[in-house]
Amino acid sequence: MAQYDYDLFVIGGGSGGVRASRMAALAGRKVAIAEEYRMGGTCVIRGCIPKKLFVYAAQFHEDFMDSAAYGWTIGEPSFDWPTLIANKDKEIARLEGMYRKNVEAAGVTIFQDRAVFEDAHTIRLLNDDRKITADKILIATGNRPTRDLGTTHMMKGGELCITSNEAFHLDKLPGRILIAGGGYIAMEFAHIFHGLGSKVSVLYRGEKVLRGFDEDIRDALRDNMVKKGLHVSLGCQFTKIEKRADGLYAETNKGDKIECDQIMLAIGRAPNTEALHVEKAGVELGKRGEVLVDRYSKTSADNIYAIGDVTDRIQLTPVAIHEAMCFVKTVFGGVPTPADHHDIATAVFTTPEIGVVGMTELRALGEGHHIDVYKSVFRPLKHTLSGRDERSTFKLIVDSRTDKVLGCHIFGDHAAEIIQIVGILVKMGATKAQFDATVALHPSAAEELVTMRTKSYSKSPEAA
Ligand code: FAD
Ligand code: NDP
Repeated sequence: MAQYDYDLFVIGGGSGGVRASRMAALAGRKVAIAEEYRMGGTCVIRGCIPKKLFVYAAQFHEDFMDSAAYGWTIGEPSFDWPTLIANKDKEIARLEGMYRKNVEAAGVTIFQDRAVFEDAHTIRLLNDDRKITADKILIATGNRPTRDLGTTHMMKGGELCITSNEAFHLDKLPGRILIAGGGYIAMEFAHIFHGLGSKVSVLYRGEKVLRGFDEDIRDALRDNMVKKGLHVSLGCQFTKIEKRADGLYAETNKGDKIECDQIMLAIGRAPNTEALHVEKAGVELGKRGEVLVDRYSKTSADNIYAIGDVTDRIQLTPVAIHEAMCFVKTVFGGVPTPADHHDIATAVFTTPEIGVVGMTELRALGEGHHIDVYKSVFRPLKHTLSGRDERSTFKLIVDSRTDKVLGCHIFGDHAAEIIQIVGILVKMGATKAQFDATVALHPSAAEELVTMRTKSYSKSPEAA
């Protein structure tokens, strides 16, 4: 091996980079990591964790309302945004400190700096203006919210809008917020702001939100949003965004004229490869600027790997961590280990939640499966007393020939917690007969999974 400063240099101290650097250092390698902002990355600083804290904050509202039927009298509830922000910031700072401590404890050198490529083995730290060499380099720079509203209407105004980054630090809770997008972030923040008391409108370019999710779940979410009073405009694009004396003003292609205090863009994220100078290292990028990698997360340069959101595979924290573990096993453990992207459970933290794993009905049919579908839509026990007009949906997609459960889709309270466990079963290849052989836990919502005995319908691939 040539003489390098480090065995491994990791660019980006987020979910993937932190895990890879720690594991490689614990395996006895000399490792450094550069982070230009805050250790912990998107998940800890401005993603999963602060988001989930906001979700908890938002859910109290309905709990207070529902408690009356259970005999509780609560005075007029009021919500204080600065308290939430301050407490959230304190917890995020604590977590950031823990991440830093754990990385240092593993023996990794941390550079609080922006790192860019000089060549395939050389990194330049921009603030320090110094060069560092490494045998292996791992790109784990994540992604960032896009403000690109498209060129159809020569749209300007993206700079007047916030993204999820700013949503975590607003001075005050917006009275009226317009959220653009129909994916994870748009749906989660629509429910967060609604729960906290904002008047929320969602503007989505497609005909149904959460593209790629099972149709029944998309329908269930839409119906529930309408019941809650969340306004959703479909098939909509901005044609104008401008600042006015009392806030922001937007127009759409459908003739909507919307006055609001904030417009939040949740229209996807772009890989952080800009000005990283990967071309100097022979690393190829895809059309969206994502780093192209093989099954082992290796780039087009032999000694350079990339993991997590910057590769634009599946943008989830546990996936970035999994890819980090596979990278370390492959490169430093002598065991070539491809990342496994199959049957990953995921949740959308709306209220109630969505939890899914495995194939949707359409995907199963598209892949040639003959399927039996088991579906249960019911009023949760809690709401028999509260009177809340809410339905839960549980759906299993089963291969009619092998009896294997191909997918599970849940809309309802605690769906995230439930789907993590179902994920194990789907990964194991459990059959519907095995679900049926399991005695139910009563009373629970999850018991639906083992009590759906009558199939709702069957479909063959030709139906797709
Ligand atoms: P990141 O965590 O983004 O880390 C990349 C790091 O690299 C950043 O800290 C960045 O500052 C740093 N960096 C970039 N360029 C350089 C450079 N040149 N030099 C030095 N440092 C650099 N996933 C879930 O699984 N569950 C959730 O509930 C969830 N909620 C989310 C909510 C929101 C609002 C968002 C935005 C994302 C959410 N995600 C969630 C996705 C999750 O946060 C990401 O998939 C995950 O953080 C990806 O990890 P990563 O290591 O690839 O990148
Ligand atoms: P998503 O890909 O989930 O959604 C992006 C949305 O923006 C889609 O509805 C898309 O529409 C729309 N869109 C894209 N481009 C435009 C445009 N030019 N104009 C208008 N609308 C546009 O991305 P998010 O940003 O919501 O989240 C990024 C990723 O982060 C997620 O995919 C997920 O992997 C992860 N995440 C995970 C969470 C969790 O695990 N709970 C929570 C938050 C994020 P269309 O569908 O028509 O393409």
